[in-house]
Amino acid sequence: MKDFISQIECAGTIGITGHIHPDGDCIGSCLGLKQFIAEQYPDKQVDVYLESVGEEFLFLNEAGSVLTEPQDRAYDLFFVLDCSSEDRFEPFQDLVKKAGTVFCIDHHISNQGLGDFCTADPEASATCEVLCDLIPMDKISKACAECLYTGIVHDTGVFKHSNTTKKTMIYAGELLEKGIPHSKIIDETFFQKTYVQNLALGRALLNSRLFCDRQIICSFLSQDEMRQLGAGPADVNGIIDQLRITKGVETAVFMYTLDNGGNKVSMRSNGKVNVAVIAQEFGGGGHILAAGCTVYGSFEETMEALLPKIEEQL
Ligand code: AMP
Ligand code: MN
Ligand code: MN
Repeated sequence: MKDFISQIECAGTIGITGHIHPDGDCIGSCLGLKQFIAEQYPDKQVDVYLESVGEEFLFLNEAGSVLTEPQDRAYDLFFVLDCSSEDRFEPFQDLVKKAGTVFCIDHHISNQGLGDFCTADPEASATCEVLCDLIPMDKISKACAECLYTGIVHDTGVFKHSNTTKKTMIYAGELLEKGIPHSKIIDETFFQKTYVQNLALGRALLNSRLFCDRQIICSFLSQDEMRQLGAGPADVNGIIDQLRITKGVETAVFMYTLDNGGNKVSMRSNGKVNVAVIAQEFGGGGHILAAGCTVYGSFEETMEALLPKIEEQL
């Protein structure tokens, strides 16, 4: 906490970024940190850079001020949040490289250290939980609490995943006490789906196949299918979770093709399989029960590469 506060205090200009295809924890942690700095140190200039912010998160304070294009600037201090490697904060690498000091805050087990200071706690449910460790609770305003609560809700699957601990719940309770609209946050950012998101989920479920004695479920959405549905990366976020809760399934895999031709692979485990290890073998990373990577080739080839690695652990 000492380094965190002292680095902020000695910086005039501060940049913040998170990973590509930002999720609730990434957006919540970036906006929550900006909110804290802007309120406590009004003389500092703070900018958040993210690829995009999903519509459901636009109610968060400062969401409208997020910069989506990199700028040619050298910030005194740059925070990299919810991110474990350089290829994950594209296209903002140059901004991070040019910064005087880089401070990483994360909770991925695959984080091997990044920047001048790195607080990566794999025991924490979310980067927003790590921020609750770093920011004194009495300095967290209602607006900041909304951001941090959103991140914890998303990375714990609404306090359901095994990463939810007593500490997570204590922080969530303290954030709740700030008077945040907690039901609205859960309903409107987590459970609510647009019509297009529901269509994408339906198509992905129809495309799914079972392997290895029905213990592995795999599905995909092709570029053509995504185009026909009018669906983008933000519309396929919850699909992997629906696949994972299929009765009897140990590991779920979902993939779709990125603009660069690679397949964005998401993997989830119900306990037996460590998917972080598999994702890391393919240049990705994540957590033991939730990880991702990008694999080049057809869906069939990608599955043929992944399946034996999962089977090995079953
Ligand atoms: P996802 O399947 O994209 O929801 O990701 C599951 C978890 O793995 C998240 O915590 C991600 O931040 C992490 N993750 C996904 N893809 C990668 C990657 N290519 N490199 C490192 N971590 C990743
Ligand atoms: Mn994330
Ligand atoms: Mn996270």
